[in-house]
Amino acid sequence: MSPAPDKSDRSDAQAGATAELWPREEARRLAERVASYDQSRPVIFESGFGPSGLPHLGTMCEIVRPAYVRRAFSQLEPARPTRLVVFIDDMDGLRKVPENIPNREATAQYLGQPVSKIPDPFGECHTSFAEHMVSLLGEFLAPIEVEYELMRASEMYANGRFDDALKLILAKHHEIAAIVTPTLREENRAGWSPFMPICPKCGQVVERTVTAYHPERSTIEFTCERSAGDSDGCGFSGEQSVLGGKAKVQWKVDWALRWYALKVDYELYGKDLTDSARLSGQILRVLGGNPPLGFPFEMFLDEQGHKVSKSIGRGVTVEQWTRYAPIEVLKMFLLQSPRRARKLFLGSIPTYVDEFLDAIREYASAPEEKRRNSPLEYVLQSTTPRRFNSELSFGMMMNLVATLGSSDRDFIWNYLTRYDAAIAGDPETEAMGRALVECTLNFYRDFIEPAKKAYVPTDPEREQLKNLREYLAANQKASAEEIEKKIYDLGRENYDKPGKIFPLMYRSILGQERGPRLGAFIRLATPTRVVELLDATIARTA
Ligand SMILES: [Zn+2]
Ligand SMILES: [Zn+2]
Repeated sequence: MSPAPDKSDRSDAQAGATAELWPREEARRLAERVASYDQSRPVIFESGFGPSGLPHLGTMCEIVRPAYVRRAFSQLEPARPTRLVVFIDDMDGLRKVPENIPNREATAQYLGQPVSKIPDPFGECHTSFAEHMVSLLGEFLAPIEVEYELMRASEMYANGRFDDALKLILAKHHEIAAIVTPTLREENRAGWSPFMPICPKCGQVVERTVTAYHPERSTIEFTCERSAGDSDGCGFSGEQSVLGGKAKVQWKVDWALRWYALKVDYELYGKDLTDSARLSGQILRVLGGNPPLGFPFEMFLDEQGHKVSKSIGRGVTVEQWTRYAPIEVLKMFLLQSPRRARKLFLGSIPTYVDEFLDAIREYASAPEEKRRNSPLEYVLQSTTPRRFNSELSFGMMMNLVATLGSSDRDFIWNYLTRYDAAIAGDPETEAMGRALVECTLNFYRDFIEPAKKAYVPTDPEREQLKNLREYLAANQKASAEEIEKKIYDLGRENYDKPGKIFPLMYRSILGQERGPRLGAFIRLATPTRVVELLDATIARTA
């Protein structure tokens, strides 16, 4: 893995510096929607979490992005109350036992049952499978300081909060089926029902088994023949209420149900759900509701430009991210350009860190009004340093660690302070600087060190390296510009284009193909250390 920055995303950040940030645009649209509301009526932002699996980067995305719009809205309309509801779909039947949980066999016997009814596979620590996942969600979101409230489907169905909407769905099941079935594959159309009853005998959430609807007594008739997931039905047949948690609705209908019952004003979702959202909006209109605002956000791309699939799990995890970069950088990444497919792979992280440092330098000196449109308004945490006065970049630090070949943080810190005393000049800059050093050490140990190649130069190259070595040994105090000029001169003497000498220098000094501006970098690493590295390369034979 190379730490080479992916420059393609840079222009995007720069464009964002002048245009208004998207959460502010969204907040304006939302203000129009709610203009007629009573001042005391809360504006509802919604996001969902399916507790049949572990939370992941996509989960964070779906919660943090509406939180950004909520923040922008509260700046625009400070008097209006707002709520961010994270809806936990714990009535969902477990379709597949996730790969990454313990006691998979024990859990497999509950396939098809609502995840709120399945025992905690991790032990006795929670009341159900779903509750364990919900606790993980809480731990997962804690570091990003986002405010939200949880709402559980199991409670909402059981306590009657959904009853009115469920009765409406029952009364209008024909109309709803007429919207949904044309979007299904031919073989799935017959027997489609908005309701999935919970079988009283085997406890499974059963699909496609409703045989009769009785809106006048809020019941359906069904047979437990086939169920969601891998397990078979138990054969039960009978009539049962759709209220009180005895049935749930199919998921597209479920979205409409929530929007209707919770009066949701704003919901963001991944682009893969565009059709579902449109369909849910149509169903909501049948119920007499007004679809929330929001837009589909783009998926992430991996290094090769393929869309990152949740199930395959390519791409970057949150745990990895926090190992190589401050969490604020992830928040900033999630803030930028949600309508554009952006590359997210480990090697791209250093670029995002440097964008963040640029933003922080600008933010520290910006007037109040400009700060409001800074991405940092959304990503700074209560403990985030508010300034970074050093000119050092994360890329430079990373290359320094590679060049020093050391994991000794004090040793590295000494180099940094000698190059730029400002990095220890105030407590906030120092705190950020030290945090970045930890990240560079992790990145170095995990990716750079294992990939480092000891370069064996050709004879003419050996002469060029000796030449630079002699210059640095004799000019320990040479400036970055002087060193840069020396390398260019050497390039001019030995190649048709002077730039062609750089790969040799990077291989010899950094053990990699590319790198930073060498004059400044040699100053940072010190001519003494670079002379040692050049000596080692000069002496190396195949
Ligand atoms: Zn547990
Ligand atoms: Zn059954």
